[in-house]
Amino acid sequence: MHLHWHRRDLRVEDNRALSMGDTVLPVFVFDDEVLAHAAPPRVSFMCSALESLRESYRERGGDLLIVRGDPREELPRIAEACDADAVVWNRDYSGLAKARDADVRDALDVAEIDHRAFHDALLHTPGSITTNEGEYYSVYTYFWKKWRDRDKDAPFDAPDEIVSPEEVVGEVDGAIPSLADLGFEDPEGNIPPAGTEAARDLAAKFCERDVYRYDDARDYPARESTSRLSPHLKFGTIGVRELWETTVEAKNDAESANDADSVEEFQGQLAWREFYMHVLDDNPDVVVENFKDYQYDIAWRDDPDGVRAWKNGKTGYPIVDAGMRQLREEAWVHNRVRMIVASFLTKDLLVDWREGYDWYRQKLVDHDTANDNGGWQWAASTGTDAQPYFRIFNPMTQGERFDSDATYIKRFVPELEDVPPKKIHEWNELDPDEREALAPDYPGPIVDHGERREMAITMFENARG
Ligand code: FAD
Repeated sequence: MHLHWHRRDLRVEDNRALSMGDTVLPVFVFDDEVLAHAAPPRVSFMCSALESLRESYRERGGDLLIVRGDPREELPRIAEACDADAVVWNRDYSGLAKARDADVRDALDVAEIDHRAFHDALLHTPGSITTNEGEYYSVYTYFWKKWRDRDKDAPFDAPDEIVSPEEVVGEVDGAIPSLADLGFEDPEGNIPPAGTEAARDLAAKFCERDVYRYDDARDYPARESTSRLSPHLKFGTIGVRELWETTVEAKNDAESANDADSVEEFQGQLAWREFYMHVLDDNPDVVVENFKDYQYDIAWRDDPDGVRAWKNGKTGYPIVDAGMRQLREEAWVHNRVRMIVASFLTKDLLVDWREGYDWYRQKLVDHDTANDNGGWQWAASTGTDAQPYFRIFNPMTQGERFDSDATYIKRFVPELEDVPPKKIHEWNELDPDEREALAPDYPGPIVDHGERREMAITMFENARG
């Protein structure tokens, strides 16, 4: 019998490590060291995903063992109590996760318990897609071509038998702790439904229709045209092979070359996710350091008032404010708007990307070390294959182009509800009296974009030396 240690793979099917045993006792350990890096939206989503996982195990005649403690102590203890042949798990690729896994391996070695870790979270494992010289790619396009053309595994079957913890380790409490028990407040925003059924519903619905207009619509935040699968991919409530297969079927069903291209555009986003995970695997320090070397330090500014206005959605730049308020309301933000608000923090407020990354880490339901870091360092021009430092988003033209009728802006910034879109998109140029008359409760711009753009370019040129 295997003891399967669940971490960010909260599903029964298409789970590589889980599929390796015929008889399995699944366990989830609430580890305070890991929880110290978590935040209410994700703990909330994870606890509902665990409820749903436990239900799936119960339907199969077994159960999920839930414990709270240090996995270095709990896993050897449980493995011994149930006389497990091995403890198995799926790998995670962040520096913190790798250090934790090494400690657990040591503890299991001391207890003379066999253990095995598997690659599961990605279609292609870090180190398997490299340049001809065997280096990890730092340019996405080359990575994507190799990644796309490689054969991919089919989804894995669920194990034959799930053991009930009570049969093998005696009576257990097994309750999933509440957020308060775990030391968290309730999340500020609405958290989407978790669990494999919810993930499969989203994937099926998306691949039935929206995937065919993804290419055209994905950049327009009001259109709700993306899959919203990010928290599910983060917590592994759906397997990547299963999702990939759904996209391949959608591509086979495409009625035109355009439709097929649109599916491929979506598959490309799954590849971006893997690209950033490979980058993190190869460079664990990107979590705290710039990926790209500049000759001198970038002279980021300290601007607590600006950062406060940014966090509260009160910068006077409508699309930025809508995005920052969507973050609070939904614990999720549309990708185009994530890029706009990240650019605003780093290139208009000239504030270090790490402050933004930290805010996202606290507020996002889908915060994923690799993707979040990749996104921030892209926007800050410090990352791998990043936005060049001289190509600076203009938040007004971005709003006009991607939310021309201001539907998205008005959804999150009710102060602008009665303002004509044209005025919203020239908000920074209006006379203060006109702004006051149009929307007395909405602020004017806290910085001048034109000035800040010049300052940002100078800041980067100084860093380049
Ligand atoms: P879809 O468009 O439906 O894409 C499907 C999946 O592909 C996503 O769920 C995600 O797993 C992956 N994906 C899509 N776009 C990207 C991308 N640019 N980079 C990497 N993977 C991508 N994504 C996260 O999952 N977690 C984060 O913490 C995160 N932080 C970000 C921070 C910034 C500053 C930026 C610019 C982007 C960030 N992204 C992050 C990437 C992207 O914004 C989200 O993955 C996407 O908005 C999630 O919505 P969706 O599931 O509807 O995406």
